[in-house]
Amino acid sequence: MRNLLVFFMAAAFLPLAGCERLSRQPAPFGGGATVPSQSAFALNTVNTITLYDEGYPHIYHAVFARLHELEGKLSMFDADSYVSRINAAAGVEAVQVHPDVFYVIERAVFYAEISGGAFDPTIAPLTMLWGITGDAPRVPSQQEIDGLLPLVNWRNIELDPETQSVFLREHGMAIDLGAIAKGYAADEVAAVIRRAGVPRAMIDLGGNVLLVGAIEEGRPWRIGLQSPFGERGAFFGILQTEETSVVTSGVNERYFTAGGIHYHHIFSPFSGRPAESGLLSVTIITGVSMDADALSTSAFVLGQERGRAFIEGINGAQAIFVTEDMSVYLTSGLTAGVDFILIDSSFRLAN
Ligand code: AMP
Ligand code: MG
Repeated sequence: MRNLLVFFMAAAFLPLAGCERLSRQPAPFGGGATVPSQSAFALNTVNTITLYDEGYPHIYHAVFARLHELEGKLSMFDADSYVSRINAAAGVEAVQVHPDVFYVIERAVFYAEISGGAFDPTIAPLTMLWGITGDAPRVPSQQEIDGLLPLVNWRNIELDPETQSVFLREHGMAIDLGAIAKGYAADEVAAVIRRAGVPRAMIDLGGNVLLVGAIEEGRPWRIGLQSPFGERGAFFGILQTEETSVVTSGVNERYFTAGGIHYHHIFSPFSGRPAESGLLSVTIITGVSMDADALSTSAFVLGQERGRAFIEGINGAQAIFVTEDMSVYLTSGLTAGVDFILIDSSFRLAN
């Protein structure tokens, strides 16, 4: 029996570990209607966009149109998406894709390589076997896991930049971009927002947060970091930061319980099971949201020690690790009490 995390608390299903803006009022501006924030379901989560200035309906419309367009290209659950077409052609032929899709897969392969395979976009056979993103998740047998593990290997993704085509070498292989697509979508939404001339905005794609501009001159943004226990909106700490992206991977983002055991959605590509790295969550802070997204999943699988060394080696990235023994570890670029403020006394700062 695997010693997975057992929680004795009844936690509601949380779409993703969340961050929440702590300052709520949109700035006054002249003319037109102010729309403080708007939400929509896409990419398997609730997405909330807050335009603090220039919150015109047509800008929100453009933002959500871009989100839905990306979902239609990148989701493995949409039979018409490029990802589904790549998966259906595994072992048979290469599929020419849209530049958005080629770029995300190219970056996913890059992160697979630098994380030593802890991040692996070919994890789909396992995520589907466990049904972790669906309505009926289950614990498969070891035999079933062992049968699919050889298909999980990012080195068998063949990318041809000339033709912008993607080929999965083995029949049965499949790509799942769930650990990186929200990050890319956040970056793309930010591009729409910036092009529209909006100076201050918060993009929150189910906890994958990207800040645009400064919330107030001379003051940092204050982002509540979702506690790995408890309800959405229960924070264990506050991050004070300039314009950046803040992305969390954690055990309570998406999970199911069976026989009193908590099975979360971040898989070890090596064991074929929910990663048991000793972590409850990892939050990554870095400018590009796609990088933060890929790095948070990578660091979660790697665990506190290896994950921290990994993030320290990446220019411009910082991280906050929460371990099962309720310790919080910060990378060297973050100062406790300044950048990160611990507010839940059941956790302790470990460095
Ligand atoms: P995140 O919340 O960004 O850490 O992404 C987790 C999601 O990415 C899961 O729901 C799976 O769809 C997928 N996934 C799980 N484990 C991995 C992994 N080791 N590498 C890449 N994607 C993964
Ligand atoms: Mg991720």
